[in-house]
Amino acid sequence: MSGTTGTDIKRRTPRRPYVVTADGLRRIVLGAEARGAAPTAAPIVAQPTGKPLRPRREPVEWHVAVIQAERGDLDGHAREAVAAAAILARPETGVLAIILGPFSGCVADLGADAALVLSEAGDRYDPEHDAERVAAIVVRYRAKHIFLPDKPDADGDLGRRLGVALSAETAAHVVELSGTHAAVRWSGGTSVARAGLPRVVLLAPGAVDARLPFAGAGEILSPEELSASQPDARIRDLGLVALGAEGVPLEEADLIVSAGNGVADMAALNRLAGTLGAAVGASRVAVDEGKCARHQQIGATGKTVAATTYIAVGISGAVQHLMGIKDCRHVIAINRDAGAPIAGRADLTVVGDAGEIVPALLDEIERRRRRNDPEAAR
Ligand SMILES: Cc1cc2nc3c(=O)[nH]c(=O)nc-3n(C[C@H](O)[C@H](O)[C@H](O)COP(=O)(O)OP(=O)(O)OC[C@H]3O[C@@H](n4cnc5c(N)ncnc54)[C@H](O)[C@@H]3O)c2cc1C
Repeated sequence: MSGTTGTDIKRRTPRRPYVVTADGLRRIVLGAEARGAAPTAAPIVAQPTGKPLRPRREPVEWHVAVIQAERGDLDGHAREAVAAAAILARPETGVLAIILGPFSGCVADLGADAALVLSEAGDRYDPEHDAERVAAIVVRYRAKHIFLPDKPDADGDLGRRLGVALSAETAAHVVELSGTHAAVRWSGGTSVARAGLPRVVLLAPGAVDARLPFAGAGEILSPEELSASQPDARIRDLGLVALGAEGVPLEEADLIVSAGNGVADMAALNRLAGTLGAAVGASRVAVDEGKCARHQQIGATGKTVAATTYIAVGISGAVQHLMGIKDCRHVIAINRDAGAPIAGRADLTVVGDAGEIVPALLDEIERRRRRNDPEAAR
């Protein structure tokens, strides 16, 4: 008789956190679709987005999501914070999104019943003033729970300041939540510790499924009537400074072109990175060979990066290197060996000589830019 014994079966850790979806708590298995059922009560009216409205009554309490918009849009993590507020809302709970920075997207689609867009908040660095303003709004709405994405930059900082300003129970890096509890990783990430849902919830990415089967009422509120406090005169904002790609720390770069031992022409690789506006990383061998600086090394003994796109040129994909790119979303490899380990990690592998492909890529980018904007190319 053939078959597998219990010990052959790879088991998932029972300590994995759950993801909160509109359907309730469920463990999301990679590759499987989260089932999103419509809410049980009848929808009130259909929204322009095609989704039914979340069943709701006149709000007697509010969930508030506080998020930062960048270039008029929100990233997935910010959307998850609003979705958390909406998913955990009862019919008599209103969902308010406080959006710092200009936002041009659809508020209803986020799941929010109302939004306050503080457009000018994105123009300057004034965390104390932002926290004061947001805290005033939160108090005015008597927010039951406040949700923020726990990012290392502004949102995470604002969430902690809010917790202090409101003297509210706060949980950071929340990986799992429901209407009654929040959980954080514990014991070096090997287990999950659960406690009651605090008032201020700082969400780790991926704790919430932002794909909602319903829409919010989507009303845009006027911030004027709410803004009483003045900016902090002690802080002088000198504005944003645009950095060249080489000035962006690898850990923060969204696009990285990385050089390995298979790169002979570093000047061409640097040109490619400059043209794409990418930061330049390197394998350890490329660093040891003196092609790149030590601070550019990516991997187990170098930096861990989380770029949206990582282009590995002439890099074999040794396990130590792969450890440094585990959080990258898309990996593109250029390698003359189709069987190199990097091809197993890459979403796209271009098999060929980097010495030919890099200049060809540069020519193609130049050609396309000329075609799209002949004036700029002159
Ligand atoms: C304790 C320890 C820690 C380490 N830490 C790190 C670390 O942090 N980061 C790291 O990167 N490594 C690290 N290493 C080293 C790691 O094991 C590999 O040796 C290293 O990553 C290999 O670098 P590479 O892929 O650039 O070079 P190689 O292994 O030499 O691979 C070169 C690749 O380029 C391809 N190639 C060659 N010529 C061309 C061409 N003309 N066009 C296209 N492709 C070409 C080849 O097919 C090959 O796949 C560590 C090792 C140890 C033991």
